[in-house]
Amino acid sequence: LERLREGLARSSGQLSGQITALFTKRRLDEATLQEFEDVLIQADLGVETALRITDRLSEGRFGKEITGSEVRAILADEVEATLRPVAVPLELDLEKKPHVILVVGVNGTGKTTTIGKLAAKLTRGGLKVTLCAGDTFRAAAVEQLKIWGERTGSEVIAKAIGADAAGLAFEAYDAAVANGSDVLIIDTAGRLQNRTELMAELEKIVRVLQRREPDAPHTVLQTLDATTGQNALSQVEIFRNVAGVNGLVMTKLDGTARGGILVAIAAKYRLPVYFIGVGEGIDDLEPFKAREFAMAIAG
Ligand code: GDP
Repeated sequence: LERLREGLARSSGQLSGQITALFTKRRLDEATLQEFEDVLIQADLGVETALRITDRLSEGRFGKEITGSEVRAILADEVEATLRPVAVPLELDLEKKPHVILVVGVNGTGKTTTIGKLAAKLTRGGLKVTLCAGDTFRAAAVEQLKIWGERTGSEVIAKAIGADAAGLAFEAYDAAVANGSDVLIIDTAGRLQNRTELMAELEKIVRVLQRREPDAPHTVLQTLDATTGQNALSQVEIFRNVAGVNGLVMTKLDGTARGGILVAIAAKYRLPVYFIGVGEGIDDLEPFKAREFAMAIAG
């Protein structure tokens, strides 16, 4: 939590400073509202949300003096209202044995690390987890996943580089059934360079899994890197279409985070945000909490 606050403080500090500067001894007029709207858009909150917040702000206050802290309180409330519907816990259907989680996202956004942290959480909760090294393009990704497997006591199903990812996922499913796993987490390649290939590969993974379990994958989790700002929005658009994403994790909120983008994504896509990443360590995955996040953003 501290790290989320510190991380977001870098961007929200700026936002907070701008609010203070803007609402010092000024009556709330059209020009101020317009400037405030620009500030919110620059903070990645999105046009729709920025408009809603300025509308809310002007209600009953137009022409009156308003302080920075009043504005921050209203901002926090509005951001929280947008985030609350998406701040839901990840539910596993443990009847499935295994519940299959497919993890997708652009390379470098934190797929492998998030899988490791998630495996740690689940195994600590007494669940048995199998990991599938489905990013068969990058040796480093396979090696990283093996390390996470050792750390969490989870079996890792992997093959040589260049192996067919769908075939591997199929084998991993059978291995997870055989070893009695509650959860199977599948890593994937996130190469955006060739979108047709990416789509074909993800579709094939889903298709082969469904030969064993018609409802698989039960969760399709996309990782988003908070430091990429606006880019995250188009990444959701792509992977939602290509892979049927039904949940998000935003990583690197401890860094030079621009958490505002999560508000824009929540407003636009309404996809559940299950966790946030606040560091590279095993414990640095936290459930997403709307109020805390909103307070951190509003400064
Ligand atoms: P992948 O390519 O999507 O599998 O991404 P990785 O899991 O390999 O992560 C890319 C880099 O980001 C690695 O150096 C990770 O340690 C780092 N990383 C992942 N999540 C976080 C996070 O929440 N905070 C920070 N600071 N770094 C992270």
